[in-house]
Amino acid sequence: MALTGLDIFKLLPKTNCKKCGMPTCLAFAMQLAQKRAKLDDCPCASEEAKQTLAAAAAPPMQLIKFGSGDNEVQVGQETVLFRHEEKFYNPTILAVSVSDKLSGEALQKRIESINALQFERIGIKIGVKAIAVINDSGEPGAFANVVSTVKDSSNLALILCSDSPESISAALAKAAQAKPLIASAKTDTAEAMAKIAKENNCPVVAKAASIEDLAELTEKIKTQAVEDIVMCLEGLTLADQLQSFTRMRALSLKKVFRPLGYPTLSVVRDGDTDQQAAIAASLICKYCGIVILDTVEPYAYLSLLTAVMNIYSDPQKPIQVEPKVYAIGEPDKSSPFIFTTNFSLTYYTVESDVEASRVPCYILVVDTEGTSVLTAYSGDKLNEKSVADAMARHSVESLVNHHKLIIPGYVAVMSGKLEEATGWEIMVGPRESSMLPKYLQEVWK
Ligand code: SF4
Repeated sequence: MALTGLDIFKLLPKTNCKKCGMPTCLAFAMQLAQKRAKLDDCPCASEEAKQTLAAAAAPPMQLIKFGSGDNEVQVGQETVLFRHEEKFYNPTILAVSVSDKLSGEALQKRIESINALQFERIGIKIGVKAIAVINDSGEPGAFANVVSTVKDSSNLALILCSDSPESISAALAKAAQAKPLIASAKTDTAEAMAKIAKENNCPVVAKAASIEDLAELTEKIKTQAVEDIVMCLEGLTLADQLQSFTRMRALSLKKVFRPLGYPTLSVVRDGDTDQQAAIAASLICKYCGIVILDTVEPYAYLSLLTAVMNIYSDPQKPIQVEPKVYAIGEPDKSSPFIFTTNFSLTYYTVESDVEASRVPCYILVVDTEGTSVLTAYSGDKLNEKSVADAMARHSVESLVNHHKLIIPGYVAVMSGKLEEATGWEIMVGPRESSMLPKYLQEVWK
């Protein structure tokens, strides 16, 4: 729990020497509690005070990184229970399982299917971030060989899933440089797994059947000087997992209970694609940091990644595109000129409908602080002045040899004032962007 001003005051020398610029130690302590001062400003603070305050200032949830180079991923270090309180920082990592019983062509085909699970949505690249190799065979040699093949055939981060320290050691002999996540250490293997994790500088998953056992297990792993831990609950129903993850999140963030201050992982290998997607969606909502699935169906991942993208966006900041003129296709001086707003979803919908029309076109994106056409218009962020200013700023006169501007049908009411402000002929486009292909093909001849 964060220290209060009085807690901090008790750790200070209480000499009121004023070297920190404050009249008293108590005043300094109050400033420190409100994060308006740094402990370094007090030259007389003891080592004990420094250590206690540093521990209290550490984030309540550890940030865990695995993978290497461009493929490094990170999870954890969340600060709030609810997105609207601030925002969530590190999106849930989706991983796909590969059984070590696969070999040859079947193995390569599965890796290729997983590598292909990458998408683009509203101009942002999203995709599966890791491959989890599962030691279904129980054989260290088979496990190590499949891990090695996956490492050589994919750029995704690696998760090594085996409860056997021998299998994990064999796999790391071939893939330690990829800095995989080791999954998992249980109570009886905690010491051996933690030792392997420390020697190879890899994070490790602690796996237990209850919150209480997990808290004990993470403390046990920490005694081996391993701090990079991910937590997994085994053998629980989805309902129990969700309840437990929620309690763990509250205990770590609200009570700063350090033994549970780590991100979580869950494995969803049972059921068909739809069942796996439904379970994973629930886990993403509450509060799973890494979800390993078995399916390789793209439709499941596109939905899940869209959910992750939405949950982990900043609720204070709509996703925006840069306000400027976008050329769609290869427009020339006679091409149509459209405007829309810089709300990403609006822009990319309009862009894809213009592309579908096969009519090369210019789209002027007006800065409306990331709001959609109607929202911007009703909030007076979209008016004849903002459009005229954007047209002048981006020198649209030089791009076309006509003076015709197509405006969204929903703001047809702007036509008169916009014509006066710009001197351009205003053409009212369709209300729905989906009608743009037909409109452009029929009207712009
Ligand atoms: Fe107190 Fe330290 Fe400030 Fe001196 S410098 S008044 S000891 S807090």
